[in-house]
Amino acid sequence: MERSCTMTPYERLVAIDQAHVWHPFTQMKDYNQSDPLIIERGEGVMLYDVQGRAYYDGFSSVWLNVHGHNVPELNEAITAQLGRVAHSTLLGMANIPAIELAEKLVEITPQGLTKVFYSDAGATGVEIAVKMAFQYWMNLGKTSKTKFITMNQAYHGDTIGAVSVGAIPLYHDVFRPMLFPSYVVPYPYAYRHERGAHGAKEATLSELRKILETSAHEIAAMIVEPIVQGASGIIVMPEGCLREMATLCREYDVLFIADEVATGFGRTGMMFACDHEEVSPDLMVVGKGLTGGYLPVAATLATEEVYRAFYADYEEQKTFFHGHSFTGNPLGCAVALASLKRFEDHRMLDAVRRKALLVEHKLRAIQDAPHVGEIRQKGLMVGIELVKDKSTRQAYEWAERIGVRVTGRARELGMLTRPLGHVVVFMPPLASTDAELDAMTDILMKAIIDVTEGGRVR
Ligand code: PMP
Repeated sequence: MERSCTMTPYERLVAIDQAHVWHPFTQMKDYNQSDPLIIERGEGVMLYDVQGRAYYDGFSSVWLNVHGHNVPELNEAITAQLGRVAHSTLLGMANIPAIELAEKLVEITPQGLTKVFYSDAGATGVEIAVKMAFQYWMNLGKTSKTKFITMNQAYHGDTIGAVSVGAIPLYHDVFRPMLFPSYVVPYPYAYRHERGAHGAKEATLSELRKILETSAHEIAAMIVEPIVQGASGIIVMPEGCLREMATLCREYDVLFIADEVATGFGRTGMMFACDHEEVSPDLMVVGKGLTGGYLPVAATLATEEVYRAFYADYEEQKTFFHGHSFTGNPLGCAVALASLKRFEDHRMLDAVRRKALLVEHKLRAIQDAPHVGEIRQKGLMVGIELVKDKSTRQAYEWAERIGVRVTGRARELGMLTRPLGHVVVFMPPLASTDAELDAMTDILMKAIIDVTEGGRVR
């Protein structure tokens, strides 16, 4: 396409963007009619666009930023490694940062996880967990154990295996004919369960028990987003539910996979969400915050028992034949090590728990607002469910785009976030200061009130 030399730099970028970039999870028809945000740089919890406007990163650049942007120590970890080697493979060989990071991950993850298999995204990490669980049983000769249990409204990423254990109709239904079927247990969604948290938890556990009683012989594993189901709307599990699910799976000889991609690395106030209930899964997937949100590294951790099922003579062909080009990327592993060092040096977990209380206290100001249905929070992972009618909990119509309108207003007010349907997400970088959290929550609440009560209809 022709690009006029009278265009401003912004207009030029927009023209190229619209001509050539297909954005993920984005209706391009809407995007191309919008005033796109083009980020140029970041500093701390702020992002700056090419027109010089500043925004708080209120969703940690899609749930992954930990220490803020452009942090000197993290930058230095990458440049130091860059001076040695940017990438070399883990297929049959090793590199220094991947080895050191594996040792660190084994140290900080729940007990029993001793082996680290690297990949480059949450979805690939889940794909690996699913394939490992499947092949584990094959290698043991239990060839009937081929199926999986997932939870209603689960999200585990966008590759086909991850989508097969996903259960969000809007994202997943169109692909159903090409997926393997999974058992689905109800997720304990207390706010929308007629018998509240207790009833929701009981319903989940009794359905799980039923499936395990009748079908455990054909089930390889259950996969769960521990404590907080993210993409479904930041839905926090009733206490004890995770632990009981893990115990049931163990009882019936079904592997338990914890997908900590969204919840890992301090996000919920513990290093991992499993730590809240002292759950030790058989397989655990981490990504996003692993590198402080700097580079695409993910990992699937396994127990010694899972690993041993693959450890055999070459001729037996029990090898895990899976690996991605950028597995164990040294730059990513180096920055992950620097990020984890910062967790210790800055006592991040204590800080997150304290800041979570601050946010909780602050958000009480809108608790009784007529369109705030429920404020859900675990650590610095917050979802605010908006409702059309508070007394009946009636949801907004999809076409009302309530979440889109609220986050649009937040952007006008100087904070970025993305909605999940009618749930507004607030997930600030864990390193946000008290003053920054104060400013961000002010914007969040104002955006909600302006849109739901101020009649700011587009
Ligand atoms: N699992 C969970 C629980 C997630 O929240 C996500 C992403 N939001 C993924 C997996 C997929 O991760 P990625 O986008 O890095 O593939």
